[in-house]
Amino acid sequence: MGRPPLSSRLTPFVTTIFAEMSALAVRTGSINLGQGFPDTDGPAEVAEAAVRAIREGRGNQYPPGPGIPELRRAVAEHQRRWYGLEWDPDTEVLVTAGATEAVAAALLALLEPGDEVIALEPYYDSYAAGIAMAGARRVPVTLRPDTGAGAPAYRLDLDELRAAVTPATRLILLNSPHNPTGTVLDRTELEAVAALARERDLLVVTDEVYEHLVFDGAHIPLATLPGMRERTVSISSAGKSYSFTGWKVGWVTAPAPLVAAVRTAKQYLTYVSAGPFQYAVAEALALPDSYLTGLRADLLRKRDLLAAGLAEAGLRVFRPAGTYFITADITPLGEKDGVAYCMSLPERCGVVAVPTQVFYDDPDAGRSIVRFAFCKKDEVLAEAVRRLKEGRSA
Ligand code: PMP
Ligand code: GLN
Repeated sequence: MGRPPLSSRLTPFVTTIFAEMSALAVRTGSINLGQGFPDTDGPAEVAEAAVRAIREGRGNQYPPGPGIPELRRAVAEHQRRWYGLEWDPDTEVLVTAGATEAVAAALLALLEPGDEVIALEPYYDSYAAGIAMAGARRVPVTLRPDTGAGAPAYRLDLDELRAAVTPATRLILLNSPHNPTGTVLDRTELEAVAALARERDLLVVTDEVYEHLVFDGAHIPLATLPGMRERTVSISSAGKSYSFTGWKVGWVTAPAPLVAAVRTAKQYLTYVSAGPFQYAVAEALALPDSYLTGLRADLLRKRDLLAAGLAEAGLRVFRPAGTYFITADITPLGEKDGVAYCMSLPERCGVVAVPTQVFYDDPDAGRSIVRFAFCKKDEVLAEAVRRLKEGRSA
């Protein structure tokens, strides 16, 4: 029994920061602006569709491995209508247990031990764990706050990206709109990624779960760029676009050989999941565009409300172009360390945020930055701001 139970591959990933901070919020009765989930459920008719599917016995037993045909067709139609991408619902679309499983299955399917994966840092926490489970090595490329004129934002350093590629690089794991920074990669950045992938024969896995939560600029799927359709595995899910994060319905679109590879890993992770919810998400994807434009307008208002409030509370706000997160620097408050700040915040003023340094290989790059979620009711955001303003000098 000398050996610890947990594999060394997983020891750095024992608890996710999101679970830890949500538990802290519950324990202290704080307003939870940490873990990103909306405090209002998605459309009632979509919830009804799930209930109807259960009552009518649709999806209560194992659905087909690749996902129910109705949902695969709805995903293909969504990609065609929004982005002009054509995918065959039978061979080029795969339904997964959320984007999380899609990312893990893609990494497990596409990587050999020792391969290198380039990921934008700060990165979503499941990426590091997924890369480690695949026995591969992550190579971060840091998004750095731009301190130049105009609203501060994080940008991708294209020279740094290029320099990160080695003969061992197998794929780039790209997340745009980006969690936690809210960066939406622009066409120049995406074209540089595409050029590099073509030149060095790399695959790209794109995590596009915030595709519809873009306030400034536009979401451009990498697969729409020349030569990228054949080397890109695009991932999204219903959690963010339809405000049902607990349903865990995600999907992959890619050319048939890549989908077949990801499906091979997926069938031994969950095999299938969320039967009745798949029917409901197929209906959600068919909602009129006004639903998504309404969601975006609502979140834009919330972004501006929280951004203004955080600035009034003395933080330096990095205005996000997308997602439902705002990052802010706490240095102007006389604070230096985001972890210490976030651990003391519930006691001090009853608000929970997430320190972003845990999403960096180089914690110094994000030491004083914290993330707040704004997918909450206006009154909840207003109360959080009131508390932060009151607690600033404590
Ligand atoms: N990718 C990113 C960037 C995320 O922020 C999240 C969190 N919701 C996920 C993937 C996971 O998505 P899902 O809940 O569909 O697994
Ligand atoms: N994506 C959510 C966030 O960034 C959390 C999801 C999770 O807890 N795994 O807050």
